[in-house]
Amino acid sequence: MKPSRLKIAPKVPTKPPITPARSKQALMTSRDRDPVQVYCRIRPLDVPSDDSCVTVLSDTVVQVVPPETSQGYRSGTTKATQYTFTGVFDEKTTQKPIFHTVTLPLIEDLLHGKNSLLFAYGVTGSGKTHTMNGELQDGGIIPRCLDVIFNSIGHYQAKKYIFKPDKMNSFEIQSEIDALSERHSEGLTSNKFKTPARRGQENEGPRVTDATRISALDEDQAYAVFVTFVEVYNNTVFDLLDDTPIDPLRPGKIQSKILREDQHHNMYVHAVTEVEVKSADEAAEVLAKGQKRRRVAHTTLNAESSRSHSVFNIRVVQAPLDYQGAIPEKVLTVGQLSLVDLAGSERNSRTKTTGERLREAGSINNTLMTLRSCLEILRENQLNGTNKMVPYRDSKITHLFKSYFDGEGKVRMIVCVNPRADDYDETLSVMRFAEMAQEVQIARAVQPNIRLEATPRATPAGRDALLPGRRKANRVLTEAYRKLEQGGISNPQSEVPFDIDMVFSAARCSWPPLELQSASDDRLITALVEYLQVRIRDQQSRREQQMKKCVEVRTLIRDMEEELILKRQENLSLNEQLKDERSRCQTFENRVLNAESANATLQRHVLEHQKYARLLEEELKEKDCLLNQGEMEIQHVKAKEKTKRQLEREKLKKELDRYKQVESQLQRQTERFLVMRDLLDAGCSVKVPGTSGPGKGWVDHRPENTLETDTVFQPQMNRAKSITKLVDSKTITDPNISKYVLRTQEQDSSGEIETKLYKGDVLATVGGGAQVVLKDVEILRHSSPTAAKRHSDGRLKDVHSRVADIENRCGYAIEGHGRVKKHCP
Ligand code: ADP
Ligand code: MG
Repeated sequence: MKPSRLKIAPKVPTKPPITPARSKQALMTSRDRDPVQVYCRIRPLDVPSDDSCVTVLSDTVVQVVPPETSQGYRSGTTKATQYTFTGVFDEKTTQKPIFHTVTLPLIEDLLHGKNSLLFAYGVTGSGKTHTMNGELQDGGIIPRCLDVIFNSIGHYQAKKYIFKPDKMNSFEIQSEIDALSERHSEGLTSNKFKTPARRGQENEGPRVTDATRISALDEDQAYAVFVTFVEVYNNTVFDLLDDTPIDPLRPGKIQSKILREDQHHNMYVHAVTEVEVKSADEAAEVLAKGQKRRRVAHTTLNAESSRSHSVFNIRVVQAPLDYQGAIPEKVLTVGQLSLVDLAGSERNSRTKTTGERLREAGSINNTLMTLRSCLEILRENQLNGTNKMVPYRDSKITHLFKSYFDGEGKVRMIVCVNPRADDYDETLSVMRFAEMAQEVQIARAVQPNIRLEATPRATPAGRDALLPGRRKANRVLTEAYRKLEQGGISNPQSEVPFDIDMVFSAARCSWPPLELQSASDDRLITALVEYLQVRIRDQQSRREQQMKKCVEVRTLIRDMEEELILKRQENLSLNEQLKDERSRCQTFENRVLNAESANATLQRHVLEHQKYARLLEEELKEKDCLLNQGEMEIQHVKAKEKTKRQLEREKLKKELDRYKQVESQLQRQTERFLVMRDLLDAGCSVKVPGTSGPGKGWVDHRPENTLETDTVFQPQMNRAKSITKLVDSKTITDPNISKYVLRTQEQDSSGEIETKLYKGDVLATVGGGAQVVLKDVEILRHSSPTAAKRHSDGRLKDVHSRVADIENRCGYAIEGHGRVKKHCP
């Protein structure tokens, strides 16, 4: 929302600052010019009864009548002369109207950043100093100026030392911290200036101030007032505010100042003491201090005060503030008002000065003459369009004034006139000069003197823009909030937040055009309060509606939350079920998987078994086949065996018969052998072991199922006792028993039966028992006839050889050791 503009502030300058390059020619041809305004002030006669040569005809016209004592009268000039000025003040005119008429517009310009020059001109004693300074009870132009300035900028003053002279006739903006530290150190170093109370005591009474105030002030600016006070004496510039004490013994030591031109082509006194003053009283104090120093200097220099020019400079610096009071940009506007109290304009001859005084007077006149000639040449140049050089540099004062005559602004002159007859000739000269001065044109200041301390930021837009009237709007809004609070609305800023734009927009939308005339414009505040009340009411009704909606929405939310809770519970139980189902499902799946794997295993086993069964079946078939073959072979073998056995039996029978014959032969030979042995035993006392002993009985120890093999050759045992088991010891210990035979029967693989007879002697033991000592083995073997045939010859041969052997050996000796008898059936 773009705020509209209230008529509360003057226009903010938009023109770029005056550039140093601006030429004189450009100024000469610039559009608006105003003549130098000259006011004439007639002071009252010291002795009212004296003759007066000046008569005020109207507000602007004054008539000078040559008195008889005057040089003019004596030289034949008796005619009264009328002079017209911008304004004429008669003897009765007090300080105030003069100030208001002459100076107030200049102050207005000053506060808007424009320069002005006001100088008092006249003979000594004509009331120049009176007009400029005045008395404590009735101040002149300078104190009134200060009063009005401070009355006007009162609340808008920047804090001290925010603006600081840069020694080059301009200013810089200090940070708040730097300014604070300077203020602090100033406070520490003592009070520079005495308090008003003290001043009141020192002087004859308190200073009477001028209460005038210029209202058309840009309240969005911060202001600061600076003063300088110099004196030009003998064309030398002295700083009257310099704190350096004046040494009466060395008056030459008083520092004189030089003039310089700044970058804006303004002349200034270089290194002059520029004092920032914060009140009219403080400024008056500074002025008084300067005057005191002036008096001391005059005494020291033995100078005539009326022969010096004094220049009191007031500079007002301003910078735009944002609505909160900060200085956002380093753009400065500087206005300057020079208040000059010139020396008396009387001629040398009249004062009858000589020597040093003459030199001084000459100097005075020189300065005033230079002023005159400057103005004359200016007028001439302006009237004739010539470009003659103006001799400003010929004196310090005109050099200082150069800035005003060549620049923009207002130049005003107060011609002070003492109407006494003695002054007629001088007065006439003054009048002529003054009238001539009015013809000089000075360029009108349209724009203030803007000086940039730094490159300004781009023009801010929107909320940050420096809206004209922002500070007042701020105050108005603050006041409106305060009133609302008084009206019972607590913390209205929470209802309608602080927004400076609101003041502008409210003014445009809802109100008739407003004009703020003063800071305490109740009408605007009341209107704003009403506007805010409406807004607050709207706000409250909207809030109520919102509350209702809130309640509805809350109910809705609560219902939804309950539903949500139910749904959540339902969801939870469903989730539980789902979980169970899933776990069951998982179990089933596992079981299915297990079953499937078991099934696969089983199927594998079945396949293996089937394979194995097939193999078995094949094997069975093979076995059956083999079995059948075997049975057939068995039967075949059986038949063969039967036949074979039959044949063998027949063969055996034949063999048996032959054996019987052989046996009978052998029997006979054995008998012969035995006889021979007995004979040998008897004849050689050779005892055969086992044959001795008391008894000759045998124990035949045979197996239980002894197979009767129908053996043809039987062992020879006398009184044999047959047992199957040796259970009774008496069987052995029987004295009739001396021989023991252990019979075994075995069938070999070919079905042949072999009977072994282990023979031994039974010997009595010392303990009364008996022991058997085995001596030899008789082996009875059944063999098939073929086998028998194979061996029969050998055996027979063996038997025969043995018999023959025994027979042969018995021819020498037979040793007593075991013999093996082999009976081969
Ligand atoms: P100047 O400065 O021109 O030499 P002053 O201002 O010193 O003259 O005036 C000389 C005397 O005249 C002072 O005592 C002053 O009080 C007095 N005087 C001048 N003008 C007026 C006036 N308008 N009304 C009353 N007294 C005046
Ligand atoms: Mg004076």
